[in-house]
Amino acid sequence: MELRKDPITRSWVITGDDAEREPEGRDSCPYCPDAKHPPQVISSMPSVDGGPWSARAVVHPHALYHIEGEPLRQGDGLYDKMRPVGAHEVLVENPRHDRPLWVATDGEVAQFLALTGQRIQDLKKDRRFKYVTVFKNHGTVAGQEADHPTSQITATTFVPRRVLYELRSGKDYFMQKERCVFCDILAQEEQQGVRVVESRGDYIAVCPYAPRVPYETWILPRNHESAFERSVQRGSSAGELGALLRRTLQRIRGVTENFHMVLHSSPNTLHRSEVLDYWKTINDDYHWHIEILPILEKKPKSYTYKEIYFTPVTSETAAARLRGVSIS
Ligand SMILES: [Zn+2]
Ligand SMILES: [Zn+2]
Ligand SMILES: [Zn+2]
Repeated sequence: MELRKDPITRSWVITGDDAEREPEGRDSCPYCPDAKHPPQVISSMPSVDGGPWSARAVVHPHALYHIEGEPLRQGDGLYDKMRPVGAHEVLVENPRHDRPLWVATDGEVAQFLALTGQRIQDLKKDRRFKYVTVFKNHGTVAGQEADHPTSQITATTFVPRRVLYELRSGKDYFMQKERCVFCDILAQEEQQGVRVVESRGDYIAVCPYAPRVPYETWILPRNHESAFERSVQRGSSAGELGALLRRTLQRIRGVTENFHMVLHSSPNTLHRSEVLDYWKTINDDYHWHIEILPILEKKPKSYTYKEIYFTPVTSETAAARLRGVSIS
């Protein structure tokens, strides 16, 4: 595996010839507490109900990024490449194989979120890493790797393109208005109400005004905060967020089985780099959020135009339908 930079869009791509793997079934599940060949445990959260543990981070069995060494960025003619130095871990959301986030208790989801916050904080101590990504692919169409309820975390020597766009836009907006664009969006959404799915304590779930896919939903803290790990370490915050995340995923599942979920949070400001200056106002101009991108089974034909997002369900209709899903 190696990282290659697209010289036109300047985005990094990880590439290499890799064997396709079948998802592992219940009998050979490496993430269950009684696994025959358990992966190396990195961090474990104490149990909330007498189980062996509540959530834990383990080494990814087929890691794309490896922790040893330096990226050794080098040229190849006009191209740029570097070694895939980084971290790649599996976040086991629950010890129980049949207990995904939307079925778990709020307390269990909170433990998973607290673990996620701890792992991000720990990986950000490594100055080689510019960004830590947390994501979940659920369902066969979404590229789910394991049956067991899991998410993944990666630490990389570059900032993923979509996040970079957001960081740049957030900064531009702040330079003009001295306000956070996300806070301004939230103020308007809360006032208008039509795209709000649910508001709960310090957190809110909304369908974005210009969605990329039908039923795209974001979860954000209602008060400004750039770093996810700081939010979940604050008092009852992980509990409130856990409840809203669980309920929102139940709503999404009222529409489809398959979804991608990704956390967008502030980059590693410890990274010593020429772009550090760029992140001077990061705590004021960026606002962390979770993006949920559902995959509808039946895709309309015109949806295949990948270059321009065409979303055949407006966010107002999506929010209304998601609000209507009954929640247990
Ligand atoms: Zn399992
Ligand atoms: Zn904000
Ligand atoms: Zn985002």
